[in-house]
Amino acid sequence: MKKLSFIQRTQSEHWVGDGFPVRNIFSYDDVAEEMSPFLLLDYAGPKNFPATSEKRGVGEHPHRGFETVTIVYDGEVEHRDSSGGGGKIGPGEVQWMTAASGVVHEEYHGREYAKRGGPFEVVQLWVNLPKKDKMTKPRYQGITRDQISEVAIPGGKLRVIAGSYESTKGPALTFSPMNIWDIRAEAGKKFEFKLPNGFTTGLLVLRGRIKLPSGEEIRPAEMAVMEREGTDFSFEATEESVLLLLNGQPLNEPIVGAGPFVMNTEAEIRQAYMDYRSGKMGHLS
Ligand code: MN
Repeated sequence: MKKLSFIQRTQSEHWVGDGFPVRNIFSYDDVAEEMSPFLLLDYAGPKNFPATSEKRGVGEHPHRGFETVTIVYDGEVEHRDSSGGGGKIGPGEVQWMTAASGVVHEEYHGREYAKRGGPFEVVQLWVNLPKKDKMTKPRYQGITRDQISEVAIPGGKLRVIAGSYESTKGPALTFSPMNIWDIRAEAGKKFEFKLPNGFTTGLLVLRGRIKLPSGEEIRPAEMAVMEREGTDFSFEATEESVLLLLNGQPLNEPIVGAGPFVMNTEAEIRQAYMDYRSGKMGHLS
């Protein structure tokens, strides 16, 4: 049975542009080794936005060396990048943007959603790339609701975003082995999952409440980080819950990051700034 390693709670609260009021749940600043291959998770909302005709979000900025994965629970997010990738995603949909060698992108609330306003709730996860893939070509995967298989499990349902659950596979193409599941749990139900031994495991509670066999309770905007050893992961949903499971093979490579770039060495970070300033990451047309 996997044991709790620690509970990760909000590290900071800030706005990303004027569209994303985020709670940073974890960052490689302090839990780089513990969370690898995952670098950072920002939880935006839940928040009710009034209707507007303005463009709300964050304008042109670069990334290199990792992937940004945006999961929409409520509202809409529109993205556009310098490699030609772009699209709009809504509730239940995922945008998997591989920055790799570098892109410049913008992230805004979907125009139609902004015009009508309403609830907004989005997770942005940064997934690190193995050293050998950091300078590969950028890629954009817009993953729609119908591409994500939903599996009925005892006590709830589970949608496989990446990796697999038993024989069900997720649509996201990844560079290292990982499983990312959107779990909906009914109140009072117990859950038991088999996970690969040695993988990082974090369970984020968005709504509801869960209880681990050791007695700890995990509440909204908290993440249970489990020990890597063992394959059996179990918990009880003490309330109806919305959960995000992050499970991935640690990369065990040096992590050096600054702002929007995450590489393996300081020299690579300096190079990233030079390449961005000289326009090598492209521009939005
Ligand atoms: Mn970005």
